[in-house]
Amino acid sequence: MKISIKRGAKEIGGSAIEISADNGQRIILDLGLPLDAEKNAPELLPQIDGLKNKTDDLLAVLISHAHQDHYGLGKYIDKSIPVYLSKEAATIMKVAAEHHLPEAFEFENCIHFYNGKKFMLGSFAITPYLFDHSAYGAYGFLIEADGKKVFYSGDFRAHGRKRKLFYKFLQNKPEDIDVLLLEGTCLGREHIQHFEYEEDLEDKFTDFWNNTKGLALVQSSAQNIDRIVTIYRAAKRNGRILVLSAYAGHILWATGNKKLPNFTWKDVKKLTDFPQRPHEINIEEISQNPQKYVLLLDYRISQKLKINNVINSDTSYVYSMWNGYKEKYQNWLAYLTDKNVPMTDIHTSGHADIHTLKRLVKSLNPKLILPMHTFHPQEFKNLFDNVFCADDGEVITL
Ligand SMILES: [Zn+2]
Ligand SMILES: [Zn+2]
Repeated sequence: MKISIKRGAKEIGGSAIEISADNGQRIILDLGLPLDAEKNAPELLPQIDGLKNKTDDLLAVLISHAHQDHYGLGKYIDKSIPVYLSKEAATIMKVAAEHHLPEAFEFENCIHFYNGKKFMLGSFAITPYLFDHSAYGAYGFLIEADGKKVFYSGDFRAHGRKRKLFYKFLQNKPEDIDVLLLEGTCLGREHIQHFEYEEDLEDKFTDFWNNTKGLALVQSSAQNIDRIVTIYRAAKRNGRILVLSAYAGHILWATGNKKLPNFTWKDVKKLTDFPQRPHEINIEEISQNPQKYVLLLDYRISQKLKINNVINSDTSYVYSMWNGYKEKYQNWLAYLTDKNVPMTDIHTSGHADIHTLKRLVKSLNPKLILPMHTFHPQEFKNLFDNVFCADDGEVITL
């Protein structure tokens, strides 16, 4: 068996791994958009035979989860290549496409996999494992071929609302792992051993909004469902109604999980220009009683607030996303500063902290660790003994 990290060995984003069996059959794990790409373009596709024009030896592409840095370049591959992804990921992609989000698309030739259900692809046996991550339906993969076992962690953590999945995995883990492809997003970030639990953010939101006299604004991703739950719960504790875009509401509804906030609940409303039904509300109505609402922002909503001039020093703003995206919001943040809006950051990472990485490595006890999805691969060597920092495209033969 051969492994080659085509992109992502030394960066966060653009993840793509090629695994080849001894008989020449190949599979690709993830085809992500690099984070530093100015725009998505076919030239960004990593050099992998058969991606643009399918060849018989390329069996399939497997997508770990519906984050652009793991599937974004998939739109350029030969449509006849089977793409394996979870039903959850397909659902998120479908809703995003229906709401015309930038870069949204759906895979045409797609086959679903399920948690813990092993499936065969030529010489490869693949077992997907559902993990806790900021994306809904994020999976790691066990890949077996030629008597070797590779485990790809994908993106994961153990401090979100679904962290039980991680501990369940440890209890029933695959044995005799030869290679662990391990995400190291947290490395180089002040070496925090433990990230905050998602639930702990609830208190922070609640405390901050205790001092908010007007409208409470939150900047977060509609696809970060754990965070929407946190925001909803904190809003409820403050006696406020959560207002969402139609898109955010659709994402929550499409999960099929009726325990997630949705528009059938009296304290969740949909922002629309012309409200007709009881669960709908517009900016004018919000601005009459701003102290009653928490509003989840997106680009369009921010523009509407600006145009309607509803923001003042009684408004408050929480930035609840990865700090790296802040640059995109520069103009908006400058506008809020101008309006004397109190601002704060409330966030916890979607990725494993050092403590969690150590727990996974200790449990799987792999013969070799290949760092990826990190800007600091060398730092893995300070944590673990058997680390090899590959270059993008380097071939590792097992
Ligand atoms: Zn990622
Ligand atoms: Zn991710």
